[in-house]
Amino acid sequence: MSVWDALVGQESVVATLRAAVNAATVAPRSASSTDDGAGQASAVPDPTSPGPGTVSPSGAPSPSGAPSQPGASVRPGGRQRSGMTHSWLFTGPPGVGREDAARAFAASLTCERLPPGCGECSGCHTVLTDTATDLRTVTPEGLSLGVKDIRALVRDAASAPTAGRWRILLLTDADRLTEAAANALLKALEEPAERAVFLLCAPSVEDVLPTIRSRCRTVALRLPTATDVRAMLIREGVDERTADIAARASQGHLGLARRLAGDEIARAHRDAVLRIPTRLGRVGACLAAAADLVDAANADAEAANTERDVGETEALKTALGVGATAVGGKSRSAKAPKAGAKSRTMVVRGAAGALKELERNQKSRGRRTVLDTLDRALVDLAGLYRDVLAEQLGAPVDPIHPDYAVEASSLAATATPEQTLRRLEVVLATRTALADNPGLVPLLAVESLALALRDA
Ligand SMILES: [Zn+2]
Repeated sequence: MSVWDALVGQESVVATLRAAVNAATVAPRSASSTDDGAGQASAVPDPTSPGPGTVSPSGAPSPSGAPSQPGASVRPGGRQRSGMTHSWLFTGPPGVGREDAARAFAASLTCERLPPGCGECSGCHTVLTDTATDLRTVTPEGLSLGVKDIRALVRDAASAPTAGRWRILLLTDADRLTEAAANALLKALEEPAERAVFLLCAPSVEDVLPTIRSRCRTVALRLPTATDVRAMLIREGVDERTADIAARASQGHLGLARRLAGDEIARAHRDAVLRIPTRLGRVGACLAAAADLVDAANADAEAANTERDVGETEALKTALGVGATAVGGKSRSAKAPKAGAKSRTMVVRGAAGALKELERNQKSRGRRTVLDTLDRALVDLAGLYRDVLAEQLGAPVDPIHPDYAVEASSLAATATPEQTLRRLEVVLATRTALADNPGLVPLLAVESLALALRDA
């Protein structure tokens, strides 16, 4: 299985990336004639990536047309519109596989066979499992990506690759760079090391600072259709009926489609969310529905993070020589007989600081998981009201939740299209509010949503 198979419904992106890999591997003279289709691929306007003008229509790395990748090493094809370049920005809505695309590209650049991207050689395998020596992946633990991580990444970028041809730096959430981190990264993008390739991922080009995105070549992933996703699930062994429901309900989110197809808890959560509109009678019922929704999100976050949190804390304590019970680590200080009482105190203080920082990161990650889960629930809910509205207006569109047709019909019969539209708007407004206000308490937001849905 080739690494490109992981990209579902992204034919033009695959063509672009393949051309770049070819340009990066073949001899200079033959490279110049292999480029055509790829330039077009990234020139296709992406409906999910708003804002014209930021993506250079030619797919060239900089708006001026001048190669912003100074490395003369990026031959052949460095100046070709579909050639190889040092910095790439993979964009697309959540779940479409931005990171998969970046990783497939990284694997092909590291692949030991022809055509590149076999998915089987050790070059491909180590990249796909994130164990390649020449690959560094940076993923934020919490809500933002700090300058420390980026400095380490930039240092790494400066060193020559050890096993393959390229040193690859993968930033999975470039939209969460802090300002200081972005500035640190910018310097590396302006003057990249000869063999460094930066792969940045973000929902859209607007989520990345203009100074950074102008130095990257953008690869815009589109939302895969329900047919694409359904085919993927069936290839992976899911039965047709389940694949159909999961593909539609996921609305192009591959990870969610897989979870809905294979995980009973995910299905139960979806059911709980989609039953909410028919539960909204009295105020008490609204508040109970809201509490259930937030509880489910919290439970999800806890299930996802608790084990990891404990493991990380223990690992850090071990690394710092801090015992789980006796802070100070007698055995460690015994091994360092020259360390006086003063320096031991400093070590302990340093350890306490590191543990506190880890705890902060874990809290931030926990909140993020809760918000992600809630957001998903709100997308499901909006999908249901969209189905209701489609029925009320007689719009000939496929339902997002075909297995909730009865509920949708009953909601359609008991409300006007205007009411449904207002409900849809209030769900979307809650999504925005939760995303834009880090201080907003999820339960309060969802309670007010439940009441607004009832009163719409
Ligand atoms: Zn390979």
